[in-house]
Amino acid sequence: MYPTSAENGFPQLREYKRLGVTDTDGYQFRCSDSMRLKEAQHMVDKQKADAVAHELMRNDFMKGEWAEPTLACWLRYECRCAYCGCDMLQSRAGAFHGYSLDHILPKGKYPTLERSEWNMALACSLCNRIKGRWDPNNCGEPLYTGEPLKEEQVQELIGRASDYVKRKDLDPRFQQLQSAIRDALGSLAK
Ligand SMILES: [Zn+2]
Repeated sequence: MYPTSAENGFPQLREYKRLGVTDTDGYQFRCSDSMRLKEAQHMVDKQKADAVAHELMRNDFMKGEWAEPTLACWLRYECRCAYCGCDMLQSRAGAFHGYSLDHILPKGKYPTLERSEWNMALACSLCNRIKGRWDPNNCGEPLYTGEPLKEEQVQELIGRASDYVKRKDLDPRFQQLQSAIRDALGSLAK
């Protein structure tokens, strides 16, 4: 939660407030407004991704690396983080250590969706961490009402979460910390 006592020192925070953004459990913003930063990540058809994953798993070099459903999820998201779009396959670190299969609707709040494939998105570990338990179904019109979601609904939820993650990246507290540490480094070098 942003410290309200400090908000006057953070112009960005005033802008968030003007837009109706708050960083509490009741986080809200106008998903369709002009501040929207990114459209939802393109998703490959699930059946196609499953079929290609199945073929790839026949190669010896794939064995013991990823499970087939994990590989299918990678292919479905074109090996990019669903929220920031970074290429997860460009380095060994990203491919083996920097990824997560994110529950689009958080499993703590929706335990029955823990194993639902439509609820899993490929995400870099940073976006996964920033998104945390934030619930995109609680922002704007609720799309999940107990029935499995259609692909365009999943993409809408991903778009909401992507906006949330990007706004968190603009965290004014971090910008303040960053410039203070850079100043301190500069004084150390003198
Ligand atoms: Zn990311």
